[in-house]
Amino acid sequence: MSGLLIGGKWRSPEAGGQREIRCPADGSLVATVAEAGRADTLAAIGAARQAFDEGPWPRTPAGERGALLHRVADLITRDRAELARAESLDTGKRLVESEYDMDDVAACFRYYAGTAATDAGRVIDTGRTDAISRVVHEPVGVCGLITPWNYPLLQASWKVAPALAAGNTFVLKPSELTPSTSILLMRLLVEAGLPDGVANLVLGAGPGAGAPLAEHPDVDLISFTGSLRTGRSLMAAAAATVKRVALELGGKNPNVVFADADFETAVDFALTAVFLHSGQVCSAGARLVVEASLHDAFVDAVVERAGRIRPGGPFDAGAETGPLISAAHLAKVEDYVAAGVAEGAVLRCGGRRPDDPSLAGGYYYLPTVLDGCRSRMTVVREESFGPVLTVETFTGEDEAVRIANDTEYGLAGAVWTRDAGKAQRVARRLRHGTVWINDYHPYVPQAEWGGFKQSGVGRELGPTGLAEYRETKHIWQNIDPRPQHWFRP
Ligand code: NAD
Repeated sequence: MSGLLIGGKWRSPEAGGQREIRCPADGSLVATVAEAGRADTLAAIGAARQAFDEGPWPRTPAGERGALLHRVADLITRDRAELARAESLDTGKRLVESEYDMDDVAACFRYYAGTAATDAGRVIDTGRTDAISRVVHEPVGVCGLITPWNYPLLQASWKVAPALAAGNTFVLKPSELTPSTSILLMRLLVEAGLPDGVANLVLGAGPGAGAPLAEHPDVDLISFTGSLRTGRSLMAAAAATVKRVALELGGKNPNVVFADADFETAVDFALTAVFLHSGQVCSAGARLVVEASLHDAFVDAVVERAGRIRPGGPFDAGAETGPLISAAHLAKVEDYVAAGVAEGAVLRCGGRRPDDPSLAGGYYYLPTVLDGCRSRMTVVREESFGPVLTVETFTGEDEAVRIANDTEYGLAGAVWTRDAGKAQRVARRLRHGTVWINDYHPYVPQAEWGGFKQSGVGRELGPTGLAEYRETKHIWQNIDPRPQHWFRP
């Protein structure tokens, strides 16, 4: 059984809890892992606190921290095949997608290795010769990192790499459904030479293993990626001790297609936008917002191709998409589709599990298109987080923007048009943290990632992502102290 990493030692949970991890593609047993409870998380927080207050890591020169992160990136590249396989077994996602994810994980560590090494602060010219004024960066302290199941190692890396680059210690709690690659990452951090207690891992369900991270006064920052509901509760819990809070929450992302878009490309990307990883992507283009004059031809083409997408297990080379993460999640997606139809949407394809008996043991759901939608419908407003595309229509730029912004979320979106001016105008007016023009889904570690409105607080990736894990301090040093005699001596 894989245990918990606390203070540099792998331990069993105090209450002896364990959990079976099963592959969502066929229900087969992948691993049995420790299930932490509150006491284990408190022990991990204590270890991280001690390593921060007394250990060498926060005072290690930034260049050395960067060198360690480079070693971690090398180890991830070395173990790419093992990591990708573990990710696919936990999530059910196609092996090729997990392999891409591992490349992104290594790139994330390399990016923060570079930024750590160039972290210089600045000196302010006050015009005085008796004092030095400088602004420096300090690590925030102990970071509580909580991650979801859809991109398990990538989401962990977006937090772990900048947290380490800035000199913090942390407790990571991955999703209870997908712990395997977080366990492997911890082993690589140890192999790379990270001091004991800097990286701590607790495994288990949110309320038991995760909640103490948001409540405990010894945790200085909580960085969470997951659902809006959990994010709200963690933000409220963190308020009691005024923690730094970074939240990457859900999205209900509009993919806006104008009639003058390149038809074939826009159809192709409309499919990738929503059906990649069976729609279990925070930035999924789940809302197709299409110009009325293009609607019929465009939706017909999307439906025709969506109906041909082939589901299958992670190691089936012919599969184009995988299962949903769990039975509970499958039931939730089914409920959203049913609600959409009940509220007047027209089911154009999918809307059910596949017939193929070889897939009966997994949580598969066919790519689904709901036409005739309105932004007030539940299936349009809330994240189904499944392979479900809703279609709304607009006439003209203003209505496109109004519909695309009519959501409490603001994570990502796209605009498709051959008119460069219109593309820029619409992109600037969309209230979403990432906007792609004539594209969907690319991201780069150098650019900030994060949401407007209720999609989140703070940013990940890029220099701002690193800034989330640093405090900025002004140090004023009088280098020629003398009596001031404000008051007569
Ligand atoms: P979730 O909120 O159910 O769980 C996320 C994590 O929080 C898990 O580790 C879970 O165990 C933990 N958790 C749950 N309740 C908790 C509590 N009371 N206290 C502490 N921890 C708790 O989300 P999920 O279903 O795992 O992930 C899917 C969600 O993640 C979607 O909403 C998706 O949009 C979002 N997401 C966002 C981004 C982004 O970059 N914005 C990226 C990936 C996923």
